[in-house]
Amino acid sequence: MQKIDEKLNNVTARVRTAAEKAGRDPAQVALIAVSKTRPAEALEQAYRAGQRRFGENYLQEALDKQAALAHLPDLEWHFIGPIQSNKTRAIAEHFAWVHSVDREKIARRLSDQRPASEPPLQICLQVNLDDEPSKAGISLEQLPELARAVNEMPAVTLRGLMAIPAPQTDFNDQRASFARLREAMESLNARGLTLDTLSMGMSADLEAAVAEGATQVRVGTDIFGPREPAQP
Ligand SMILES: *Cc1c(COP(=O)(O)O)cnc(C)c1O
Repeated sequence: MQKIDEKLNNVTARVRTAAEKAGRDPAQVALIAVSKTRPAEALEQAYRAGQRRFGENYLQEALDKQAALAHLPDLEWHFIGPIQSNKTRAIAEHFAWVHSVDREKIARRLSDQRPASEPPLQICLQVNLDDEPSKAGISLEQLPELARAVNEMPAVTLRGLMAIPAPQTDFNDQRASFARLREAMESLNARGLTLDTLSMGMSADLEAAVAEGATQVRVGTDIFGPREPAQP
């Protein structure tokens, strides 16, 4: 089996190739290693290979790994999972970025609970592009109002948008979904916001996301291998 450092190199090369094809600077696309369900040792291997940004979905699991990896400098933690109200304080205290904000109440709590000693929490709003009932995210219709509200909050910085489109195998179909998220950001910026982040693209569709302007891709499987099925 390929080792984590080799897989990480492959993913980095895919991002670079996709950026170059799109005439973009590869340095404008940050790779977030999605490490949910992986043991701290796997993250440390990725760290040794140069990876610094990690994305986690489950709070307690993330806190345990942060404690286990406290000896490693310069780690940047991104929270990318669903957020319950009773988890906002720990998220505000222990992460640099949150990609999965889809309600004003959650954003307000994150802002209120962000420690004054820390820089503002960097926020992306999660958009449910296809109004899939089973999925988290604000609708495109309600996005402008939420964006305006979050933009006013003092201890968070609204940076951009995140989405997980319905899975598609065709490259052009994948692109079309990501284009809608890019257009949503452009339309918010045309109304006076200054968003600069598109968090989109995973193992199966990162090339299409980079082609449409992704500035952060979130990749798990193709760095760490297949995940165990979720616990019942
Ligand atoms: C699990 C997850 C990913 C990574 O998905 P892979 O297909 O393993 O690359 C990215 N984003 C979010 C929000 C996730 O939950």
